[in-house]
Amino acid sequence: MQEKGTISIHTENIFPIIKKFLYSDHEIFLRELVSNAVDASQKIKRLSSLGQYQGELGDLRVEVALDTEKKTITISDKGLGMTADEIKKYINQIAFSGATEFVEKFKDSKDANELIGKFGLGFYSAFMVADQVEIQTLSYQEGAEPARWICDGSTEFEITEGNRTERGTDIILHVNADSEEFLDKSKLQGILDKYCRFLPVPIKFGTTTETEPDGEDEEGKPKYTTVEVDNIINNTNPIWTKAPADLKDEDYLAFYKELYPFSEDPLFWIHLNVDYPFNLTGVLYFPKVKNDFDFQRNKIKLFSRQVFITDEVKDIVPEFLMLLHGVIDSPDIPLNVSRSFLQADSNVKKINSYITKKVADKLAELFKKDRKAFEEKWQDIGLFVKYGIVSEDKFYEKAKDFALLSNTNGEHFTFDEYKEKIKPLQTDKNDTLVYLYTVDADKQHSFVQSANNKGYDVLLMNTPIDNHFISHMEQKLEKSSLKRVDSDVVDKLIVKDDAPAHVLSEEQTTKVKSVFESTIQKPNFKVEIESLNPEELPVHITMDEFMRRMKDMAQMGGGMSFYGSMPDNYKVAVNGNHPLISRIASTENAEEQSKLAKQAFDLALLSQGLLTGAELTDFVKRSVELI
Ligand code: ADP
Repeated sequence: MQEKGTISIHTENIFPIIKKFLYSDHEIFLRELVSNAVDASQKIKRLSSLGQYQGELGDLRVEVALDTEKKTITISDKGLGMTADEIKKYINQIAFSGATEFVEKFKDSKDANELIGKFGLGFYSAFMVADQVEIQTLSYQEGAEPARWICDGSTEFEITEGNRTERGTDIILHVNADSEEFLDKSKLQGILDKYCRFLPVPIKFGTTTETEPDGEDEEGKPKYTTVEVDNIINNTNPIWTKAPADLKDEDYLAFYKELYPFSEDPLFWIHLNVDYPFNLTGVLYFPKVKNDFDFQRNKIKLFSRQVFITDEVKDIVPEFLMLLHGVIDSPDIPLNVSRSFLQADSNVKKINSYITKKVADKLAELFKKDRKAFEEKWQDIGLFVKYGIVSEDKFYEKAKDFALLSNTNGEHFTFDEYKEKIKPLQTDKNDTLVYLYTVDADKQHSFVQSANNKGYDVLLMNTPIDNHFISHMEQKLEKSSLKRVDSDVVDKLIVKDDAPAHVLSEEQTTKVKSVFESTIQKPNFKVEIESLNPEELPVHITMDEFMRRMKDMAQMGGGMSFYGSMPDNYKVAVNGNHPLISRIASTENAEEQSKLAKQAFDLALLSQGLLTGAELTDFVKRSVELI
């Protein structure tokens, strides 16, 4: 038997095109060929279980072999094999409508994945790295003859009698000069680890040595010898393929360690398992996150039937869950099409909302089952939940029942609980509920103290997402506003009808104001005389909530660069009811007035860490003199 022919495509030569357009990701040739070998192995298994194949199945492992001398890589399987006719049908007739269209469409394409899947070029990806590809195969069918196909990268191929004596297929790649990097053992091992680590059929790549007990020596001590054993590179039964009921916590933790050997244990995990309306399995882990937002993204691995595809899961996993770790396996995700198509794909959308829902359900369950444990984890989980709340309305709808607000005493409340808690004291005269928060309880200590003295509660908002979270919550909560404790003096944070009266006369007020203005002499510090509780500090320095938020947003790149370039504007709130201020008002000694005002102002700066450098040195000197 010998036959020559031309591969049926409409352009002279497909291979230069493949080589030219598939210049990235050359390494995926191995994924494609090993996947084919695995498919062939699973097919024979199925035929056997259906009774359509009566022979011995034997050991179905797939073998990848490297011969650096001959410069070949061989992928062998004991799968169902092919007859010469099947080679002609499956290999020669490349299933796409025409190379012209293909070239037109993907002229600008840089993504090998895109082409390979779309046009069923899996096998032909071999020509990215080989200038000659040979198939030696023997079909499982009764009386089948071994066949050999060889092709040198032109459209000419040759089919002759083969030499395989056992059922299955060898794909032999004669690696081309440009691809000699692939003739390296550790390089191949790396590629196999990346793509083939969880394939369902054992993959052998070379051998390793192991020590084995080997009887006893003359003195009766155990003896050992080293033996060569097959190096199996994959775990054929990763946990996501198993039923959750068959798995223990240890199994999930062990798998996590297998995926991320150097990570701390995760907080908890979610086993995904759905077969309608799309097929998806996986395990998602909530890692311990440092409060750094860009920390370890792209830690979710996407598989299709246990073949690794990518760790860029951007469109499949909701943005706010990108920090999760783990695996997702779905044959229903169109892996091989372009980004924009992926975003529009209805399965992808469904998967995205399924994952959102699953995560929300799991969190709700944890909250319900053991609130204390949930609160302990809140520091870590809170980041995701808040991010989810601001970015996905559907998630907010579920999360509003278990999301927690933490106050400066380390207590946690649900939104509803908190509302009830602060309602009696923190409702202003317009019936607006005022939520107070601090971003740094130490730095804003005097303000927190003032609020607490009034019986107000102060929330701690110190994660990177809190800026967004605060604005978002304000939109969601009815008749409510959120104010940072240092955005005004305590009586103005929550304005009530019973504000304390002024003790200063109008004349004194004007006088005190001008004393402070001439003492401070800073254009961005605006003096105002307030009537506060005499117990409060003589001077507070505050920054308007709105201005500060705008500046914060600008700093985070929120596009409000106009605000970003503005100086910090402060209000110097002078407590007109404080005895010290009364003293300034009643004395005629200009020097003393100014000295007192300066000291009171510096004390206010000091309490907020705003007093630095020469001003701080002066202050210390002056204080010593006063003593
Ligand atoms: P796909 O795998 O997407 O169908 P490929 O180009 O990779 O596309 O393979 C084309 C066909 O060639 C396969 O569908 C299969 O019928 C056959 N084939 C490829 N590799 C093998 C193999 N190792 N054993 C048996 N058949 C194979």
